Amino acid sequence: MDWFKRKDKKIKEKNKKSIPDGLWEKCPSCKEILFKPELDKNLSVCRHCDFHFRMHYKNYLDLIIDSGSETRLFENIKSSNFLDFTARRNYDEQLKDAYEKGGNTDSIEIYLGKVKGKSVILGIMNFSFIGGSMGSVVGELISRAIVCAREEKKPLILICKSGGARMQEGAISLMQLAKISSQLAKFSNEGGLYITILTDPTTGGVTASYGMLGDIIFAEPGALIGFAGPRVIKQTIGQDLPEGFQRSEFLLEKGFIDQIVPRSKMKSRLYKIIDLLS
Ligand SMILES: [Zn+2]
Repeated sequence: MDWFKRKDKKIKEKNKKSIPDGLWEKCPSCKEILFKPELDKNLSVCRHCDFHFRMHYKNYLDLIIDSGSETRLFENIKSSNFLDFTARRNYDEQLKDAYEKGGNTDSIEIYLGKVKGKSVILGIMNFSFIGGSMGSVVGELISRAIVCAREEKKPLILICKSGGARMQEGAISLMQLAKISSQLAKFSNEGGLYITILTDPTTGGVTASYGMLGDIIFAEPGALIGFAGPRVIKQTIGQDLPEGFQRSEFLLEKGFIDQIVPRSKMKSRLYKIIDLLS
């Protein structure tokens, strides 16, 4: 029974075409293999099942803001290791590495720009900087963004993506919740419009403060949004969690968010809300 054996010896298995790394991505939802450049072009959304991959923070600028209308505000504000904190790594070293890798940006960047001609103040959280953690710099930048939006009477939009408070800054990081929330209260009293966009993942102190304080709260499809992570909750209560727990769709059903907006519609939806409410 050797009829199935390869007769043509010229075909050499060794000459397999090599596939460069990073060209293909497997969709965790539908398991389709996706061509990375095509995926990037499609706003990092799977074309088979609409699964929203995590997107680099800079891409949100292109997604939402009119091309060329943006000006970055409050650059060059950096954190320092004021508690002389060392855990697995020294916080000084961690900061130095993160600033070098991220081009001197902390966990958030603030912009002045336009959404279909409407002027806005936009903050975008950068998850690649120590897990998008909220420390003193995030608190200071968001506070300045709120003051700027108040003074110039512009809507404020914050795109959230964070693992929570920055433990390396201890209680100081927790104080940012109060600092930002009190600024937001003033902004709200003066009739300012504040919109949050919750993306995968938005957890911990960010959910516990400014993430959930938006006049309008949008979320991307399938995003993990919660305070403590599902694993911690499961261990604490000793019970299985309902399906889809802490995902956007679950939170919409429970009334925590206003709308789930696919990336492709985010800009037009924002424009509509700003046009209606400001
Ligand atoms: Zn898919």
